[in-house]
Amino acid sequence: MSTSSEPGAPPSEDMIPLTVPELRGNEWKYIKECLDTNWVSSAGRFVDRFEASLAEYIGIRHAVATVNGTAALHMALLVAGIEPDDEVLVPSLTFIAPANAVRYVGAWPVFMDVEPTYWQMDSQKVLDFLEGECQWRDGGLYNKATDRRVKAALPVHILGHPVDMDPLMEVARKYGLVIIEDATESLGAKYKGRMVGSMGEMACFSFNGNKIITTGGGGMVATNREEWAQKIRYYTTQAKDDPQEYVHREIGYNYRLTNIQAALGCAQLEQLNDYIAQKRQIADAYSAQLKEVPGIQPMLEAPWADSIFWLFTVLVDESQYGMDSRSLMRQLEQEKIQARPLWQPLHLSPAHKQSMAYRISVAEEIHRKALSLPCSVGVGMDDIRRVAETVIKIAEPK
Ligand SMILES: *Cc1c(COP(=O)(O)O)cnc(C)c1O
Repeated sequence: MSTSSEPGAPPSEDMIPLTVPELRGNEWKYIKECLDTNWVSSAGRFVDRFEASLAEYIGIRHAVATVNGTAALHMALLVAGIEPDDEVLVPSLTFIAPANAVRYVGAWPVFMDVEPTYWQMDSQKVLDFLEGECQWRDGGLYNKATDRRVKAALPVHILGHPVDMDPLMEVARKYGLVIIEDATESLGAKYKGRMVGSMGEMACFSFNGNKIITTGGGGMVATNREEWAQKIRYYTTQAKDDPQEYVHREIGYNYRLTNIQAALGCAQLEQLNDYIAQKRQIADAYSAQLKEVPGIQPMLEAPWADSIFWLFTVLVDESQYGMDSRSLMRQLEQEKIQARPLWQPLHLSPAHKQSMAYRISVAEEIHRKALSLPCSVGVGMDDIRRVAETVIKIAEPK
């Protein structure tokens, strides 16, 4: 069997993997129904049901399924009217998809720092940027340094924890910015009792294999604005104006989810609340076992948050723990435990070197120290204990 360091390869049998999907409900039954009825492609009752179920779960009127979460972000930006040479505020510490999606519509991300406690987009720095670096002109807000129009903010609720949305939404309202929530890592999380994905003008979800629920690959855009939902439906199905004569007035995309994938999604969504409970139990166990370890800081949950702890992550302080996060990762690998750093901060990404960053420091420190630990929904508490004990055993305090 191949080693776990090969991307996409299943970890060897006695390796505790970072995260693997959990498929223990009606998945077989619903997919069999697709095959038995011949409804396997991009229309069918599971697509409709998956969209309706997710919309209901979030408490949003409309949801449109897409082929993945990145496509969902692309569509949200497109129908929000983000145009070439506009700018969109994106946190630096996140997976690259939201920044790439901004480029797909020809706009530019402006990278923002994260706050040090929960590692989410820092709304105070967003406010400082808008007040200090931007000006009103011709009915629009312009970035003085680039002379581009700042149109939207794309907060990403990373690792299962919500962004502090109230100050951000206040700032957005004051400056007329559209808010598109990237909720791909935090389906089911709550901010002051409100569902993540229900606060901005639009929200995007992902059902990639590593997310809390999966369709193999898939995504969704949710919004209360019917006009936007209809447009997304139109653009994701090749912008077909006359389906019989194949007339298209605009450039569209083939971004629809298939009925087979949606069948998987329906079965997964039925189990989401159990999965969240499981993730929270994993986080509790890790936090209890690791909180006394010098130099290990388990991720936190804000008093105003219900986190889903999608990817359980700790910060490793080299001076106290005795080695840095990457050395710990390699040592865990030898003990057959798969751990991983977070994403390279996007303002340092070669792919986005032409984009602007605003006073970023915290994102870099968290990136240097962070390490995610195994936390599959189905992982046993014995395995969690083994991981925690190994982290304790490996420590080399001075
Ligand atoms: C997973 C993820 C996405 C979407 O990913 P897809 O693989 O395209 O579904 C977008 N943003 C963030 C922050 C993610 O983690």
